[in-house]
Amino acid sequence: MGESSKRRKKIKITGIVQGIGFRPFVYNLATSLGLKGYVLNSSEGVKIDIEGEPEKIDEFISLLKSKSPPLSRIENITVAAGFSLRGYTSFEIKESLSKSGKFALISPDIATCPDCLSELLNPDDRRYQYPFTNCTNCGPRYSIILDIPYDRPKTTMAKFKMCPDCEREYHDPKDRRFHAQPNACHVCGPQLQLRIMNYELRIDKKNPLKAAIELLKQGAIGAIKGLGGFHIACDATNDEAVRKLREKKRRSNKPFAIMCPNIDIVKKICNVSNSSVMLLNNELKPIVLLLKKSEAKASHYMNPISKYVAPDNNYFGVMLPYTPLHYLLFHHRIDTSPQRLDLKSSEFSVPSVVKDLNFIALVMTSGNLSEEPIVINNDEAIEKLSDIADFFLFHNRDIYMRVDDSIVREYIPPLAPPSEGGDKREVIVIRRSRGYVPYPIELGIDMPEILGCGGELKNTFTLTKGHYAIMSQHLGDLENYEAIEFFKETLKNLKNSFRVEPVIIAHDLHPDYWTTKFAKELKTHNSSLITVPIQHHHAHIASCMAENHIREKVIGIAWDGTGYGTDGAIWGGEFLIADYKEFERAGHFRYVPLPGGDKAIREPYRIALSHLYDTYGIDFLNLNIPFIKQIKDKTKIILKMIDNRINTVMTSSTGRLFDAVSSIINGIDTVTFEGEAAVRLEMMADKSVKDTYKTQKPEARSQKPEYPMIIDTRPLIRQIVNDLLNSIDRSIISVKFHNTLVGIILDVCRRIKIDTEIDKVVLSGGCFQNTLLLDRTLDKLNTEFKVFIHEDVPTNDGGISLGQAVIAATKNTEF
Ligand SMILES: [Zn+2]
Ligand SMILES: [Zn+2]
Repeated sequence: MGESSKRRKKIKITGIVQGIGFRPFVYNLATSLGLKGYVLNSSEGVKIDIEGEPEKIDEFISLLKSKSPPLSRIENITVAAGFSLRGYTSFEIKESLSKSGKFALISPDIATCPDCLSELLNPDDRRYQYPFTNCTNCGPRYSIILDIPYDRPKTTMAKFKMCPDCEREYHDPKDRRFHAQPNACHVCGPQLQLRIMNYELRIDKKNPLKAAIELLKQGAIGAIKGLGGFHIACDATNDEAVRKLREKKRRSNKPFAIMCPNIDIVKKICNVSNSSVMLLNNELKPIVLLLKKSEAKASHYMNPISKYVAPDNNYFGVMLPYTPLHYLLFHHRIDTSPQRLDLKSSEFSVPSVVKDLNFIALVMTSGNLSEEPIVINNDEAIEKLSDIADFFLFHNRDIYMRVDDSIVREYIPPLAPPSEGGDKREVIVIRRSRGYVPYPIELGIDMPEILGCGGELKNTFTLTKGHYAIMSQHLGDLENYEAIEFFKETLKNLKNSFRVEPVIIAHDLHPDYWTTKFAKELKTHNSSLITVPIQHHHAHIASCMAENHIREKVIGIAWDGTGYGTDGAIWGGEFLIADYKEFERAGHFRYVPLPGGDKAIREPYRIALSHLYDTYGIDFLNLNIPFIKQIKDKTKIILKMIDNRINTVMTSSTGRLFDAVSSIINGIDTVTFEGEAAVRLEMMADKSVKDTYKTQKPEARSQKPEYPMIIDTRPLIRQIVNDLLNSIDRSIISVKFHNTLVGIILDVCRRIKIDTEIDKVVLSGGCFQNTLLLDRTLDKLNTEFKVFIHEDVPTNDGGISLGQAVIAATKNTEF
């Protein structure tokens, strides 16, 4: 065939195609087919200009799709033809183009790949034990990118000049590190540095890694700089160290995450299903919630993880190492003598499991002060964490965007549909951060550019661009200055990276939320902005609808702790008939007074007392249950607050109802974090029991019921108290309470369906983090309704910014 048969085509590829080895893949594919031309990164994606025989070009295009690198996600390939031949003589990788106004998807941070890991642990490799090794298939991305297109000068690696060896790899299209922007080695890359604070140990400090391992082995607490921020670490099997950390860091019972060196060890301490193995092992490496192995089952078995790691909780949050430094903390040999681990259980003496390991688990909790954002820079770490950490293990690769570890759990659909193909992971995301952000949520519909500001607690914000929603990482509770600054810096960064300039600002209805004030402030600087206040629970439902691409009216069940209602009350036990544009409040729990407002979150006895007072009147004081004696001293003032409505709002919150029931049956006075009493109630339930309490069913007549239907909680409280008086086991009371709530959901949904013929039910709100409640609700509803839940977007308040954005779009545009 001669020159005349050749063709030239231009190909544009969008999706996650930058920073994951896509251009070398294109280069190798093109050269193997004898095609000429070039490939480059642009701010929209990857562009290819290619010349050659038409059938070779066709083959090239089909292989682009089928053989693309594992971390790439191709959204779209467009091919344009009919260009005159250029007579290219080779295939090249060209310098990047930057064009403002366009955007490319940025890859999240990716855990160390198997190739890099084997080099890390191979004494013959030049990167043996180098804590920052990475390649085009793995390593830092979002956390180090200052701007797009993704190139080394626009990352925090800019300050490290590559040595000749690294440089050669970087420019060799056949190398795994071709254009790996964070490429580095012992000679030229980032280094570790150790600083010991309050620890009197005579250690050889010349090797910071060895010294850090030794300190951890001695029971010291370390602040260790990682990928998206600092971790606070200690030996998870050392009771004294974990107890000390708990005391210093949180003064709360909130569980700590742990990191285990491998799956085999995780299997020793937790029940791990096959799908949980996939979650632990995939390249995102999130924290996975796993049921603790029961100690009761085997008398010889003792879980070696300290009881202070996750007190009163049936789960451990477990992750596997995801940076080279993590692997080294577990595997680096600190001496040549045979290692002996201090093991409490014979289960762990299996040599293959513990061979050559420094630890079987490390506590790895976010390096922050309680509820503040994770700390990222060295000076900030010393300033904030010196009271907690005995030593600091620093490095000098700057973190530009802080990202906490993500938290997920496996999800097994009750009636699993036949596999639809694709790589849909069966997972529920509880905290969406590292590894997930900034990968966008696909909306399936084009949107104007909108900012959804989110709520107050567990805040995230959402930006929309085209048919994408880009959700920020978990930003924390916007009650402290640091979290607010984090919100602002992340917003600035994501607006810039994705080239979004919002025209609509959606915010919560609550007048006192920081986000509401922020939205108003933006408006004063730019009067053309449209600000849209959105009811909290409507946002919850819309968020779940958006994730599931639902367009029609649904029955939305929004159950959570707190959300400002249109009547000024605190809502949270809501049944809505909703679409994106509007909602009708079809039902809710009976209002009870919430004495002290937000104070009741940490002091659940207040809402417990309020429910008892609501149920029995003043006679509740005569009930012969331990809870009453326990709070005797406090009743007078709380009753006065309720009677006179002093600092007391009305609430329909399901989260508070959980608190109240837990408080009454467990005698809980105060808690150390929001939802602690509710979590305890879930954990204690005896799941073998299917009984429920009696409830009044909404009448199933054909005429339209009065909306909102009020669900009376008094009969429920009365039956619970009766069970307590009859010495029914608390694990039974707990499960009956859960079962009753599920029954209420079914009854109310049925009633609404008769009236409206709507058969799609959407579940959202923090209460559905309760696995028992969620699983039983799905079980009950699945035969009569199509039920939708959150998977990629958190069901808690971390998800509402998405709902806000979609509602605001619908209210202000025609679609
Ligand atoms: Zn790698
Ligand atoms: Zn180097």
